[in-house]
Amino acid sequence: MDFEVTYTPEQEAFRAEVRAWLAANVPPDLEEPVDPAHLSYEQYGKRRELGRKLGAKGWLYPTYPPEYGGGGLSVDFALILEEELDRYGLHLPPYYDSGGRLGAASILVWGSEEQKRYFLPPMLTGQWRTWQLLSEPGAGSDLAAVQTRAVRDGDHYVINGQKIFIGSLHGCEMMWTLVVTDPEAPRHHNLSWFMIPADLPGIEVRPMELLTAGGEGGASPGLKHTVFFDNVRVPAFHLIGGENNGWKVATTHLELEHGGGGLIRRHRVAERFLEYCLTTKRHGVPLSQDPDVRDDMVEVYIKKEIVRLLGLRTYWLSHANRPRSYEGPQLSYCRKVTNLEIAEIILRALGPYTLTTDPAWAPLAGLLEHFQRAAVVGLHPGGTTDIQKVVMARRLGIGRTVREEAGRLR
Ligand SMILES: Cc1cc2nc3c(=O)[nH]c(=O)nc-3n(C[C@H](O)[C@H](O)[C@H](O)COP(=O)(O)OP(=O)(O)OC[C@H]3O[C@@H](n4cnc5c(N)ncnc54)[C@H](O)[C@@H]3O)c2cc1C
Repeated sequence: MDFEVTYTPEQEAFRAEVRAWLAANVPPDLEEPVDPAHLSYEQYGKRRELGRKLGAKGWLYPTYPPEYGGGGLSVDFALILEEELDRYGLHLPPYYDSGGRLGAASILVWGSEEQKRYFLPPMLTGQWRTWQLLSEPGAGSDLAAVQTRAVRDGDHYVINGQKIFIGSLHGCEMMWTLVVTDPEAPRHHNLSWFMIPADLPGIEVRPMELLTAGGEGGASPGLKHTVFFDNVRVPAFHLIGGENNGWKVATTHLELEHGGGGLIRRHRVAERFLEYCLTTKRHGVPLSQDPDVRDDMVEVYIKKEIVRLLGLRTYWLSHANRPRSYEGPQLSYCRKVTNLEIAEIILRALGPYTLTTDPAWAPLAGLLEHFQRAAVVGLHPGGTTDIQKVVMARRLGIGRTVREEAGRLR
């Protein structure tokens, strides 16, 4: 069986169109910093501009309905867009926008028609960047334990509480969050989901330093934050899915965040490592001539290919709206664990050089050193590896009589 996708002449013509458009519109001086937390404001601005241009063509969210700002394209055309952007080291959207990528899907499934027409076009065309505000000091893996509170007051809700591990560098226009609206109701029936303009009075954003906040394959690049809500008045129109239905709304973005959206990106660190071993000499011979290093190179190649093919499968299942079960968390689990294994193999192959950023010694300008940290940190965001196993077990019916269904994406 050949796992690779093949394309029709019509799709190849689309690829030529995309390739020409990207050649004309991707800024030539776009840089990929070794550590995403060091993305400059100038570089971020270029990515936002590119995002808006893609959005104007419906290519920022290619499979979303055109009436809300999407491209109305089938999954094969979306794949072509992703593949062509990947040639530049970019993806859709070309900047951190977990709030848009995950939140827009929730609004599409659970919002009223009026809400979809108000919130989706600016998200899908790149006018807004959106952060997701889920975790709290006492609610990470156990997300349903959130304590942030919203109380109805006329045409508004008043929100108080605190969220942690939030966002990225250079701010956002909108935020969405999960809060308690009925403290007396049972678990999962007490929560509501809000879209919140980031500039409302009473919102305070404070930086939060981590070991690193980025990881190969799409962890959450950039600095993280704590966000405080102090009597923030949010119009009732911004409540999506109805009062106390927040958990249902969350099942959509949690499905995507637990790997259900799939993954197209190549494994840049693995590829750069393989190239480095082929082209770098030690004691006059290429590293790849060392039998142990060669063994490690093959291991890395196999592992990154397995994740790529799983990612492709899950991308197709989700964007073609096919039945899904355990595949998302399986991809997420494999990607996270594989990153850790690849980091260990690279450390074994190249030794202490992998642990330094000293320009005299560090291979690939410190990329491998950053990956040693990112692979560890990357186990946590979007549900830890333990949680991916818990979700998979529920979907497969391990330890349960009724199998849990995958979250709705359309
Ligand atoms: C780089 C980074 C980016 C992030 N970005 C965001 C963001 O943008 N927005 C946001 O809201 N949050 C974000 N987070 C927070 C992230 O979602 C949480 O860190 C994650 O859900 C784990 O929660 P916790 O840190 O509270 O750990 P805990 O939930 O306290 O877990 C501690 C340990 O216990 C294990 N564990 C917990 N429950 C179980 C169980 N039932 N079975 C087995 N093991 C279990 C976990 O796997 C973990 O090893 C980010 C985190 C990181 C590190």
